[in-house]
Amino acid sequence: MNQNSFSDEVIILSAKDWQTVDKYVVCFSRSHGKIIFMAYGAKYPKSLAGRLVQPFAVLNAEFYEGTRLAKLKSCSLVQAAPAYEIKELAYGSLILEATELLTEDSDPKEEIYVLLEQCLPLLKKHNPRLVALAYLVKLLELAGVGPVRDTCVICGRTPEDAAGFSNEQGGLICRECGPAYGELQPFHGETRQLWQQLLQLDFQQPAAFKVKGGALMELEQIVNGFITYQADQPLKCLAFLAQLS
Ligand SMILES: [Zn+2]
Repeated sequence: MNQNSFSDEVIILSAKDWQTVDKYVVCFSRSHGKIIFMAYGAKYPKSLAGRLVQPFAVLNAEFYEGTRLAKLKSCSLVQAAPAYEIKELAYGSLILEATELLTEDSDPKEEIYVLLEQCLPLLKKHNPRLVALAYLVKLLELAGVGPVRDTCVICGRTPEDAAGFSNEQGGLICRECGPAYGELQPFHGETRQLWQQLLQLDFQQPAAFKVKGGALMELEQIVNGFITYQADQPLKCLAFLAQLS
């Protein structure tokens, strides 16, 4: 049987054991977006693919097209997974998990690939908590699901002070509209500022800036909560991070 094949540079997001000798793998590619593929025989001790196909690894890979899943034909190493400390690994895993959940198969988004490629080495150089949060706010925008931050999502006005943030409504709610929407998540001016700063952060030359602990925690809660709401399932890495702290 003649099967079409294609090649791409990919970053492995997750790899699960499948049957006795295979792996079910999700990666994000430079030109084809998210690709879900089977690596047949990858669990054999002598399998090169088995050794290379690990989360965080950057590979050059060749695939056979499939009706539902692609099939790995061959691969070679571009960049091995960085030797992360436990905290870096936890935040890195959150980055990979959110990328898998917020992107669609076969929807090419090179900006997301480039962002991921730039961000993963930074986990070892800067505060991994901030690197992850900066990645997540950028990912929300690039994936096309970024919430409304500057104007009220109900009335469209630009308020001085927000009543809060609503996952269901998709963003900021002003004080006048607030009472109709029940319990809202706190969303202060400082947090909105930090959100803007992180969105503008240049991953190639990250500038140093001061972060207030309260704004950081509030933004993390909003962003993690919003991603969980969008994904419609709990994120495994958030439970792990909660255990670490
Ligand atoms: Zn309003």
